[in-house]
Order: sequence, then C-alpha cells, then structure tokens
Amino acid sequence: MRGMKRATIGTMAIMLAFGTGAEATGPATENSEANGKAVASAEAGSAAKSVVPEKKRKLPEDFVYVDEVVPSAKINIRYAGEYNFIGEKIDGYKAPYAILTVKAAKALKRASDELGKQGYGLLILDAYRPKKAVGQFVRWSRDPEDTKMKAIFYPDVDKANVFKLGFVASKSGHSRGSTVDLTLYDLKTGNPVDMGSPYDFFGAISSHGTKLITKRQTANRNVLKNALAKYGFTPYSKEWWHYTLTKEPFPDRYFDFDVE
Ligand SMILES: [Zn+2]
Repeated sequence: MRGMKRATIGTMAIMLAFGTGAEATGPATENSEANGKAVASAEAGSAAKSVVPEKKRKLPEDFVYVDEVVPSAKINIRYAGEYNFIGEKIDGYKAPYAILTVKAAKALKRASDELGKQGYGLLILDAYRPKKAVGQFVRWSRDPEDTKMKAIFYPDVDKANVFKLGFVASKSGHSRGSTVDLTLYDLKTGNPVDMGSPYDFFGAISSHGTKLITKRQTANRNVLKNALAKYGFTPYSKEWWHYTLTKEPFPDRYFDFDVE
C-alpha cells in the first residue's frame, strides 16, 4: 500500500516538473530564450503554446533576472500560471520570471556550475515572491470551501493548517529576494530528477530525512542540498525544494514589486 503510494507520487513528480500535466500546467516557460516569443512545450510533446511577455526591467537595485546570471537554468514559475496549490494565477506574478538578489543569483550560479560537472542543471520553480502573493495565500487558507487542488498538493492536510504545519508562511522568506524553490534536471535528457515528491506537495514526504522515499530519491535530494549548502544556502527541513541564502542582503526587508 505504502509502496504503491510512493510509486505514484514519484511518477507524479516527474509529470509535474515536466509540464506533462498538459492542460493543467501553466505557460511553457522553459528557458530564457522564451522571452517575448511564442514557445512550444517541447518536452511534453504538447501543442500548448504561450507568449511570455517582455521583461519590464524595473527591478530594484541589487535584484536580477536569474536566467541572465544562470543561463543553463530552466525556469518554470508555477505561481505565474494556474497549476499550483491554489489553482489560480497568483497576485503579483505578471510574468513567469525568476528574480533574485544579485548575491543569491551569483551563489546559485556557483552551485549550478558545480552541479553541471555532475551532469545536472537547475530547474527553478519560484524565487522572489511579492508580499501581495503571500496575502493571497493567507486569504486562500481561510476559505475552507476552496479545495480545488487538494488531491494533488495537500491530500492529507487540512488547508487551514498549512501555516501551522510550516508549508506556507504568512511572511515568506521569498519576499526578501534571496530564497529559491528549485530542483535538478538531467543535462543529458533534460528530464527533472526524481525527488520522491512533487514540488509544493504539503506532507511529511517532502521533508528532508523522510523514510517515505527510496534511497535513490534521498540521494537525489542530497545532491541538490550538498551543492547549495556549499555555496551558502540553508535548506528548509520540511521542503526539499526550498533554500535561503544564509547571509542574505535584505534579512529584514519584505518586497512587494511585481514579477514582470
Ligand atoms: Zn519556497
């Protein structure tokens, strides 16, 4: 029973990160070349196309677009589309760009270079997150009727408890600009690496050190963790995908500019 569940979740993780959720996934935003052009979601073999708006380039000083610092990174910002735990486009995400502080992006580049030698690239799932987006998360958690995405993202958790359980924060480190959600992809195949649970899955299986996943999946999580730790990022015990630059430049500032 448990074994079956594990296998299902593992498969789902790959599907989700792949964008094979087809209709369910957000815009195809696999990489920086997509900027301003219609692109096809090639990996999924789907006909889904989307137009990524031009970068507005109105970032505060000390912030950058991550694709311009880490060109090998794939970027799939879930909150800019509807395929996320709420099931709607999230406030403040006007375009699917990954934005971070310069310091965090440069540290990420060093980690990425090291991972590249091991055959991996980074797939970025969220980075800077405006305060208004977090406000939407809070409003969502207070509406018990809205369980649109429960089966996929929080089947075993009462949504009223996602804050208490530590899966969503009312003041997110992401709004400080030096926190990133990410996974690995295989440089040879382009496929996301199996981490044992999908991104933003709210449950014990997403914790570091969980016994609910295979040794291989644990090893995969550790590849990511070791590389990021080496270049100054602190992991979050409950979410294998969430990392914060330890010596972040804005430890007390929460930004609210739009992702665009
Ligand atoms: Zn996160």
